Amino acid sequence: MTTESIEAAERLNAVRDAAQRAARLTGRTANDINLIAVSKMQEASAIRPLIMAGQRSFGENRVQEAQSKWPLLRTETPDITLHLVGQLQSNKAADAVALFDIIHSLDRPSLLTALARAMDAADKRVPCFIQVNVGAEEQKGGCPIAETPALIRAARDADIPLLGLMCVPPADVEPAPYFALLAKMAREEGLDRLSMGMSGDFETAIMLGATDIRVGTALFGERPTT
Ligand SMILES: *Cc1c(COP(=O)(O)O)cnc(C)c1O
Repeated sequence: MTTESIEAAERLNAVRDAAQRAARLTGRTANDINLIAVSKMQEASAIRPLIMAGQRSFGENRVQEAQSKWPLLRTETPDITLHLVGQLQSNKAADAVALFDIIHSLDRPSLLTALARAMDAADKRVPCFIQVNVGAEEQKGGCPIAETPALIRAARDADIPLLGLMCVPPADVEPAPYFALLAKMAREEGLDRLSMGMSGDFETAIMLGATDIRVGTALFGERPTT
């Protein structure tokens, strides 16, 4: 094994162990938690060692970047599940539907319309999370809390398979209240899954009910900036 693949396996084990400990505290097991390795800005050469170590769920935040990396990686390893975790422009909806297995960033009626149209055209239903702007941050994606029930209803009406809710809490503040809020909203809407928790807070997220954690830095090391 190369140094890269040993390091990748060690990081993966460390994250899995921590996720498992947090899951046990809520009466769940590691199998109940879907670990998504967020590989944005990472080259294929940095992604392959994690695939070799057994990781199969990956997340990207840009459609174009994912299009340039994943077709080849998926030819090498067909059983990859690819998640879109970043903001999606409506004019990229068809590309996203073609490439991704799960979309975490459905957050507004215009995008819902574009996704429904793209799914109909491709004859492919891509399960989605609705992203909620839990911190009411202007610059951030996500549906305002008050508008989320209506967006959930519209997604159901448009026959878009809904998995649950997703959030990215405000940076540099205690995330637990935001995770708890998202969990409460999902419960009230009868949605099972919660996409929440990143490298710095996935254990807290799991303790508050996360089913899908999105982890980049803890698995890959610091992200390249170019
Ligand atoms: C980049 C990103 C992550 C991963 O962040 P890390 O702190 O590197 O774990 C998770 N979710 C979203 C939406 C992201 O854009």
